[in-house]
Amino acid sequence: MEKAAVAEVPVASDDSIRQTRTSGTSGFQVSIRNTVRERRFRRALLYRPHLFYDLPADVRQVVFIDGNWCAEARMPPKRFEYGGVRYRTWFAGVAADPEMIRNLLRALRPQLIRGISSGIVRFIDRAGDSMRDLGVRYVAPGGEYLRPQWRETIGEAFGATVLDRYGATESGAIAWQCPLCRRYHANVDEIVLEAGPDGLLVTPLFVSSQPLLRYRLGDIVTFDESAPDCRIGLPTITICRARRDDWVIGGDGRRISPLSFQFERVPFLDAWRLHQNRDGSLCLYFESAQPERVTEELGRRLAATVPNRPFELCRGIWRLERGGKFKRVSSDLAALSE
Ligand SMILES: [Zn+2]
Repeated sequence: MEKAAVAEVPVASDDSIRQTRTSGTSGFQVSIRNTVRERRFRRALLYRPHLFYDLPADVRQVVFIDGNWCAEARMPPKRFEYGGVRYRTWFAGVAADPEMIRNLLRALRPQLIRGISSGIVRFIDRAGDSMRDLGVRYVAPGGEYLRPQWRETIGEAFGATVLDRYGATESGAIAWQCPLCRRYHANVDEIVLEAGPDGLLVTPLFVSSQPLLRYRLGDIVTFDESAPDCRIGLPTITICRARRDDWVIGGDGRRISPLSFQFERVPFLDAWRLHQNRDGSLCLYFESAQPERVTEELGRRLAATVPNRPFELCRGIWRLERGGKFKRVSSDLAALSE
């Protein structure tokens, strides 16, 4: 089952159904629908790795999410209890003022930080100072492929153990890095995983409202041949290639996170894709029913985010190899410098 087919899946009628849009970084944005019961189950799967973390009975956690809004420490947290541990959660938008995020962390001193991998890295880059004295025990990033240098940056900045997560909006949590053996245990008891050369197929067994059968996520993963030396019996996988956006290189050589581009907030813009050419120049492809209303605003925002780089705006996002992109940042230049 391909992403394009999700819209055709019949959805059960249930008052508790809520819709979530995927981020679209895999190349296609789709709507996923879950009931209250299914959403609770997804959350339990997300928290499963914590059963093996060394955490106190009361945990403060900060979660980095998409957007530019950041909570303040005095605001009431979201509360959740799981495995005998009470969690209080505050959210920080990855595009928010880094000073606000730093204040939140300093006031809360969270034991646990989760959220978008590149967003956490971007915050560290912009915050500039060490946060090793905050007492963070674990950073559990997710949402995209965790590059080895990101893992190092995060671990160094917080002086904490970094334990990666692997999942998707469509299926929920698929695998998690184990604090005991450090491999990625797969939740094969709740999701059927078929790893092949054409990309991972997932069948979440706990979703019946919008059943996904052998759904193609497209990431390349392999099941490990040898069993880990670990008391957790779930098999382990290696993630070879997963969805990710590239970073853009500014005119001054500075690396600019793909999360810096929030063009989807521009009114009348339907989709966009930013590409950096080998010579450093940029092309912003976009779709809009009213192009004359968005071009000026897009050009202004792009020039402000990436100073001193020539750019052009092109209508249509179909000119690059895969159509249907909702938002995407790619760079030939970043690939050269890695
Ligand atoms: Zn393990």
